[in-house]
Amino acid sequence: MTDMAVEGLIIDGARTGASDGGIIDVHDPSTGEMLARVARATKADVDRAVRAARAAMESKAWGAMAPAERGRIMYRMAHAIRDRAEELAVLESRDNGKPLRQARTDVQVSARYFEFFAGVADKIMGHTIPLGPGFLDFTIREPIGVSAQIIPWNYPIQIGSRGVAPALAAGCAVVMKPAEDAPMTALRLGEIALACGLPPGVLNIVPGVGEEAGAALASHKDINQLTFTGSVEVGIAVAKMAAENVVPVVMELGGKSPNIVFADADLDLATQGVSTAIFQNAGQTCSAGSRLLVERKAHDALVEKLVARAKTMKIGPGVSDPDMGPIISKKQLETIEQYVKIGEQEGAKVVTGGKRPTDSGLRGGTYFQPTLLAGVTRGMRVAQEEIFGPVLAIIPFDDLEEAAAIANDSVYGLVAGVWTRDINKALTLAMRIKSGQVYVNTYGAGGGVELPFGGYKKSGYGREKSLESLATYTQIKNVCIKYA
Ligand code: NAD
Repeated sequence: MTDMAVEGLIIDGARTGASDGGIIDVHDPSTGEMLARVARATKADVDRAVRAARAAMESKAWGAMAPAERGRIMYRMAHAIRDRAEELAVLESRDNGKPLRQARTDVQVSARYFEFFAGVADKIMGHTIPLGPGFLDFTIREPIGVSAQIIPWNYPIQIGSRGVAPALAAGCAVVMKPAEDAPMTALRLGEIALACGLPPGVLNIVPGVGEEAGAALASHKDINQLTFTGSVEVGIAVAKMAAENVVPVVMELGGKSPNIVFADADLDLATQGVSTAIFQNAGQTCSAGSRLLVERKAHDALVEKLVARAKTMKIGPGVSDPDMGPIISKKQLETIEQYVKIGEQEGAKVVTGGKRPTDSGLRGGTYFQPTLLAGVTRGMRVAQEEIFGPVLAIIPFDDLEEAAAIANDSVYGLVAGVWTRDINKALTLAMRIKSGQVYVNTYGAGGGVELPFGGYKKSGYGREKSLESLATYTQIKNVCIKYA
């Protein structure tokens, strides 16, 4: 398939090849077939993109645009994303492997980010501060400047929009580096922005390899802010790069989020919630509910229901809209397999799944069965480390105290779920759990654009989504006036 056209980077409003002609071959993980060829940004390309963003910040076209007009462009982007929803969903599904209906949701959430923040663009306000007679003091929230955004492959269009929309609302310019494994919908977002009237240079998209384009972006001297979504290890590395230039960072990292189910819960509802929380996107979700803490009295009944559900799940290519698609790459598939072995060596028991499916129709792709590991104890590696695959670690508990202790026995703190009919248990745990979000009798909120999202502990710092994210993309200037 070497005659496949190469998709260019988007820099300063134009498509361009990489400075050294480098190309990334993008594969469909459902089949292993080549999906696209994309220019691979070099350090020089990243530098060009940052300079284009800087020039846009200083231009009249963007720098002096009325906030309401920024909002209008963003509303147009939301409409354009919805107009192209099916095409974008199919592309996301082929690029990442996720079931089509999950990709469709991702696209709607992406549109919703632009819609939500479009309405915010002309409502970013400062304060007046009472300093006493003879003074007028006020604050202005100015755009922070050039925002560098490094995103992962697991929810490209959602996570891309999550960072770009508030940045544009605030009046920033953006250089986004999508992940090498799934860069396609980020490029479409760049196209849509230009077609909707966003001035050239305001949103630049530079797919590339982490160590090359990612590192060049994170260490660039002329960025003003960095939003990083990915693993803890790379997060620490890029934060150090940004620190050299005193550039503030938002870190959206990993998780080992607990779903805590009490015996008094609606077990059918909990089964559905727990199962979706771990198997959505084949478990490749930062906020996956990858630990199930279940009250011992309900353990057997809940596990039975979860096994029954897992066994009926259809595995297949993303575009055939199965219940679960493939794992993003062979390397990630091997990591997951390795973790299942580690769990067994530690004394956990595979109650369903644990292997690659054997159907001949799935041979080209990188698939793994939905897997439940019972008999897990809190100190095991499978209870502590992020597997990033469809593997649920099941840990029994006897009372609320023990549930809280196990839930907090993690270096991570991204999301937690509590399933109970007792409001006192639910609220006590909501207050005690150290994580950025807590859900009661539900898990996730259909994208949760309106809700602050971010980590405690090693899950990161800073908040995305919601009005809270504006703090990331603005800086405060205080003006103090003395009058006679
Ligand atoms: P990753 O850290 O390997 O890669 C993330 C991004 O960083 C990619 O764009 C990659 O190219 C880039 N990168 C890699 N090495 C780099 C380097 N040396 N310098 C600069 N950039 C570099 O993560 P991944 O495997 O793509 O994603 C999985 C991880 O992301 C999981 O840990 C998951 O929990 C986390 N994640 C977190 C959130 C969140 O919102 N908290 C969302 C999605 C994924």
